Parts: sequence; structure tokens; C-alpha cells
Amino acid sequence: MQVRLLGTAAAEGIPSLFCRCETCKQALALGGKNIRTRTSVMIDETLKIDFPPDTYFHMIRDGLDLDLVQDLLITHSHSDHLLADDLYMRLPGYAQTEDRPIHVYGHDLPISKCISVVGLEQQKFEFHIVRPFVPFEMQTAKVVPLLADHDPMETCLLYYIEKDGKTIFYGHDSGWFPDETWDFLKDKKLDLAILECTTGRSKYRRNHMNVDSVLETKAWFEANGVLKPGSQVAVTHFSHNAHLLHEDLTAIFEPHGIQVAYDGMTINL
Ligand SMILES: [Zn+2]
Ligand SMILES: [Zn+2]
Ligand SMILES: [Zn+2]
Repeated sequence: MQVRLLGTAAAEGIPSLFCRCETCKQALALGGKNIRTRTSVMIDETLKIDFPPDTYFHMIRDGLDLDLVQDLLITHSHSDHLLADDLYMRLPGYAQTEDRPIHVYGHDLPISKCISVVGLEQQKFEFHIVRPFVPFEMQTAKVVPLLADHDPMETCLLYYIEKDGKTIFYGHDSGWFPDETWDFLKDKKLDLAILECTTGRSKYRRNHMNVDSVLETKAWFEANGVLKPGSQVAVTHFSHNAHLLHEDLTAIFEPHGIQVAYDGMTINL
């Protein structure tokens, strides 16, 4: 199985729209792994997580055939995770596509955003509202939605994904997990955990994770036997406001056995 990290920035991207901070200037000058677009992951070309504004760019950059996607999982409705308007481009008259729906899964707010754009009277998308801790089966994987502590005005979801005998925890945007999520993860065995580190060295760990909470989460996974031998942990969803370049992030995380994601990075499981 191949997990491709299409984008690895928080909402503003790096360099960020309108921003004149030193980190954005340096990222632009350095290029390469310091250029980060809004977050999404593609698993084996058929399962996509989130549909950010940079999806169009990801398609061109990585040569993706988006019409191979069978299942689209949405974590929450924030603009860096869902640009529902672009779903419209799969409707008749806009694109020549396979004659089958892409199944879209999420909590009520992102799903109602999607429906407000494409409606229900079409055959190109089928929508499914999912609930925290209620397992469901898609065409490509079995999934359990878990609770995040991200936006108090929305039920934001993390996902536990089982596909082809492998298990993935998709952990963002998470904040420090609510107790029910820790309890769920306690007896799991992961091949891959993807965590967020949006706020860097700041003290805050509610709504988004910082460096310390990522390191504590990895330590908790190890203490509870959650990571299978040979498993991988990756960190992503970085904000320019943390003022950490790729090399700063690798200096922090690699000694702890955590991979720092970059746009286009692939993880083979
Ligand atoms: Zn986000
Ligand atoms: Zn900036
Ligand atoms: Zn968010």
C-alpha cells in the first residue's frame, strides 16, 4: 500500500498567502521540502482523505488521476480540508468521468457543505454521514471515526483505517485527543500514525498539537504497544507561524523516530 502526502501545511500554506514573515521568505527562497500546500493524503489512488483548495495543483504536480478515487473521507469542514465548490467540476457538462459515484464520508457539517454545492439529484457523488466511534465499511477500507479536540463548534473527526491488512491512524486536525480517542487507540496495533504539529514550540495543545504533544503521543503509543514492529510515525500540517523550516523540524523529530512529512512524500506499508 502506498500513502502519498499531497500537502503538509496548515490553512495558510507555506509560504503563506499575504505573509511577509521571515519563515515564509526563507521557505520561498529555499524551495524544495519547505514549500507546503494544504493537507491531504492519497492512499493507493483510490482512497483520498480531505479535498483542500490545492487539490487541483496536487493533480497536476503528481500526475494524479482523480477519477480513480472511489472513497473520499473528510475530516472536518475547515477551508484547508474541504473546498466543496471544486466537487462541482465532476458533474456532467464539466468533466468526462467514469459513470459511477465517488462515495464521500464525513460528519454532518462537511457533508452538508458538499450537498449545498452539488445537490443530491446527481449520480457523481454519494454522501454518507458518519458518527464518532461508529465503524463503517467503504469500497476501499474499513474505518472508525474518532473524536478530535479541534473546533468546539464542529464535530471534527480523526480516522482509524484498516486496508489490505494494514492499519493507519489519521490524526488531524486533532489537538490533544479526547479521552474516548485515547481509550479507543489503547488496544490497537498501527502500521502508520500520521499526527499534526501545527503550533510548533508554542505551549498550546488544545485545538492543534505542538511539538511536545506529538512527542508525548509517540511515547504513549510505544508505552501502550500501539505501534507494530516496523511501524512508521509521520508528522504533518505545519504552520508558518511556528517558524520552523523543514531542517528545524527534522532536527526535532527524527531523533525520536518520527518522519517529517513533505509535499509529495510517499510511505510504503
Ligand atoms: Zn487544518
Ligand atoms: Zn509567514
Ligand atoms: Zn481545522
